[in-house]
Amino acid sequence: MTREIFEIRDQDALGRIGELAVPRAGVTVETPALMPVVNPHLSTVDPARLESEFGAEVLITNSYIFYGSDDYRDEALDRGLHDVLGFDGAIMTDSGSFQLAEYGDIDVTTPEILQFQHDVGSDIGTPVDIPTPPDVERQQAEEELATTQERLEVAESVDMGDMLVNAPVQGSTYPDLREEAARHAYGTDLDVFPVGAVVPLMNDYRYAEMVDVVAAAKRGLGVDAPVHLFGAGHPMMFALAVAMGCDLFDSAAYALYARDDRYLTVRGTEQLDDLDYFPCSCPVCADYAPAELRSLADREREELLAEHNLHVTFQEIRTIKQALRSGNLLELVETRARAHPAMLDGYRALVEHAEQLEREEPVSKGAFFYLSGESARRPEVVRHHDRLARLHLDPDDQILSETYPLTAEVPERMDAEGHRSAALGVARLAAANPETAFTLAHRGWPESVLKLVPEGVELVDLREE
Ligand SMILES: [Zn+2]
Repeated sequence: MTREIFEIRDQDALGRIGELAVPRAGVTVETPALMPVVNPHLSTVDPARLESEFGAEVLITNSYIFYGSDDYRDEALDRGLHDVLGFDGAIMTDSGSFQLAEYGDIDVTTPEILQFQHDVGSDIGTPVDIPTPPDVERQQAEEELATTQERLEVAESVDMGDMLVNAPVQGSTYPDLREEAARHAYGTDLDVFPVGAVVPLMNDYRYAEMVDVVAAAKRGLGVDAPVHLFGAGHPMMFALAVAMGCDLFDSAAYALYARDDRYLTVRGTEQLDDLDYFPCSCPVCADYAPAELRSLADREREELLAEHNLHVTFQEIRTIKQALRSGNLLELVETRARAHPAMLDGYRALVEHAEQLEREEPVSKGAFFYLSGESARRPEVVRHHDRLARLHLDPDDQILSETYPLTAEVPERMDAEGHRSAALGVARLAAANPETAFTLAHRGWPESVLKLVPEGVELVDLREE
């Protein structure tokens, strides 16, 4: 089965630039895409402005908010969501599963809420899944996953016309359950695959576990599955999530953080009270100094902060797309990882999945920049080492020095991991070619690393030449 709604245009690590066709809206959304969350009760930035000023192609709103209120429900059924919200792009609706998780039972079944989403003109609807939080007992995760899977099958059986339908992937923090959930979801004829209930991981800065959860889900999904990292709206982790293969993000954070005077950056979150300067050139930050913003009335300050938060969030999506197009997404991830120790853990978790990434990584990309010890464990290096172990040389073979990633840009002052990785590569090549004589010319590699090179390899320190 191929999913004709999603086409991949470009790829780097597991990240991709894709085109998600949303037939009911008559639009094609370029991914990675950010979907601002619009709460009709508390609209911070008008949806029409999200489209015209920020370039939002798709937004997300909660159908249960409309369903659960007599006034909103009738208005949405009469006029349709696009008219009520004043938005021409694609609209994704959530089912209220989050309310279920936060406040206990909601009083609606999957066929009812899907039919309602269809009737109010949603372009991408969602069944009522069970978002199992991290760290629960395995038995709970299994039982709730079984219920979610039944509901996906119910969702599959109702005819929703050309409305796309989400197939959420649950399974808490159990990678095998996430993988199984993903495989099951991918086996349905549903369309978009949100990886659910990761918000508690994000809120606690557990980025390494977030990476493991996404990696597990990706193993169960085909490459043509559009993946939504549900509830993850902080721009600091977008590059990491895209590199793991996430295509869609939703942001409630832009408005929620603004309400608490919190200012988003790609390096983390700042309190407005703590800032003397804005490290940003968006229209808000160009017009106001932090002290001026602090002096405004609550509502105005909140709106302006929300606008800054949106600008920085959309800007990061564009930065990621360009990095992906240029073939240096992992360098961007590496740069972002330096902002916070928890992000570094996330990046280290990513390189632990290097073999999974390597299976999909394009063979030839832009220049490889060696930026840290983690660079030595990137998928390109893993692949190169695999090749070395299988490479049988002709006596006058010259290919090695020209093969990616040996064209890597490396620092003059190489670190221990880089030296170690290079020495292990030499060892593999020598082991694969026992009849061949090797000379390793190096510039002052440390003794501890040279010990990893097999005995038969002649060593020449170029600094002594
Ligand atoms: Zn700004």
